[in-house]
Amino acid sequence: MLNPTTNHEFDLIVIGAGSGGLATSKRAAAHGAKVAIVETSRVGGTCVIRGCIPKKLMVYASQLGHAREIALDYGWKDQSGPIDWERLRVMRDNVVANLEAMHQRNLAKANVTLFEGHARFLTPESIQVGEQTLRAPKVVIATGAAPMMPEIPGIEHTINSDGFWSVQEQPKRAVVIGGGYIALELACALQGLGTQTTLLVRSQILRQFDQEIAEHLETSMVKSGMKIIKGVDIQKIEKVDTELQVYFRGEELGDSMASADAVTLVATGRKPNTDGLGLETIGVKQDDRGAITVTDDDETNVSGVFAIGDVTLRPMLTPVAIKAGRILAERLFNDGDARMDYSDIPTAIFSQPPVGSVGLSEKEAIEEYGDSIKVFRSEFGGLMYSPTPKERTIRCMMKMVVHTETDKVLGCHMVGPDAPEIIQGFATAIKCGATKADFDRTVAIHPSSAEEFVLMS
Ligand code: FAD
Repeated sequence: MLNPTTNHEFDLIVIGAGSGGLATSKRAAAHGAKVAIVETSRVGGTCVIRGCIPKKLMVYASQLGHAREIALDYGWKDQSGPIDWERLRVMRDNVVANLEAMHQRNLAKANVTLFEGHARFLTPESIQVGEQTLRAPKVVIATGAAPMMPEIPGIEHTINSDGFWSVQEQPKRAVVIGGGYIALELACALQGLGTQTTLLVRSQILRQFDQEIAEHLETSMVKSGMKIIKGVDIQKIEKVDTELQVYFRGEELGDSMASADAVTLVATGRKPNTDGLGLETIGVKQDDRGAITVTDDDETNVSGVFAIGDVTLRPMLTPVAIKAGRILAERLFNDGDARMDYSDIPTAIFSQPPVGSVGLSEKEAIEEYGDSIKVFRSEFGGLMYSPTPKERTIRCMMKMVVHTETDKVLGCHMVGPDAPEIIQGFATAIKCGATKADFDRTVAIHPSSAEEFVLMS
């Protein structure tokens, strides 16, 4: 951190050094703006410190456990044994710390001045950070979001996705509450690492995704040994010695209980980070979910005050926050006129097996185009699993949704090994408006799973 004194004048102040804030500040500085960034916690934000990165490392660890089993079918000698949780934890925390240091260095290299502390608006152009007052004609709020905890008796015994990174010992049994992507990813990682995991879901898993894909994933998760209970209304959580007992009720379930050793993880949604920001002081409007409302230009109702990323509750993904931030900086400091395009954003769930998805689900396509759609499907075990017994085989499912009148591909969805890597390329095709005929005239890469997308009939 540079050594700030008292009053500081800047061209731009960015609040929050997460994915969106880092991208905005560096791009603005690259165009000659004098930029300050304020961070109350650790540089890197949710993605680097307590989201995508540590999560993906846990996912890799759990996938390696599965690969070790498949390796037996290929003639590798048995290397079974439990994961060394402590080693995994230290490795993961070191990678995160290295990335944090890298982002700090990059800020310094870009000439962005970092202020450590909680930012609070005094006026639309002045921000208080501890004893200091920073001033700029433009301020970007990129303060992200935080886990939302439901009001359930005993909730204080549970952890959320932020607390997950402090779990020091591997639980033998864990309960995960939630049906969204964070709940699924962490539940799959735990199960793959050898923790007997129970997933409690209020209605269905992945409500926003294509439901056939979600159902296929659910079947695979159950096959991996995970217990999934749906239609659950959580009543209370009790701590009995070292055990956590989660009491729930369901129409078909009656009164039931699931128990865990030490870890009950709640992942039931996120809320925008606006506490103590002083939004009410300057009159910035928020919607009924607490999200800062912005125009297509990312400007709030207060002139000169902008907001990007998770704090606006627009698709809560790192690349979305980064792209929106860079485009905003181009408009503010380089005469840019582009706006963030929120359509056809590809997305992944790093479950086991993972999901990749872009464009309209079958249901969304029907809602928009009625009968004028055609759905292509493919389901298979994949060559890698040919020597593997059925119970260890992860089956793949792919779906393509096509508009019959224009032949345009409206959506590609996949659950199976490498789905996120595969869908990224097809997202470009969809963005370019590719038709089914374009897919069909593309030569396949063989043998691969991805080739199915250009061979569907
Ligand atoms: P953040 O990255 O949250 O940054 C906001 C920063 O602002 C934080 O560092 C916070 O400390 C700081 N801050 C807040 N208030 C103040 C204040 N008043 N003063 C100063 N600083 C403040 N996305 C993906 O694309 N892929 C994934 O695989 C993925 N996995 C995820 C897994 C988990 C468990 C979680 C929780 C999220 C995941 N995400 C993933 C989402 C992704 O992390 C977010 O969409 C992204 O970080 C949003 O960036 P942001 O800049 O809006 O906010």
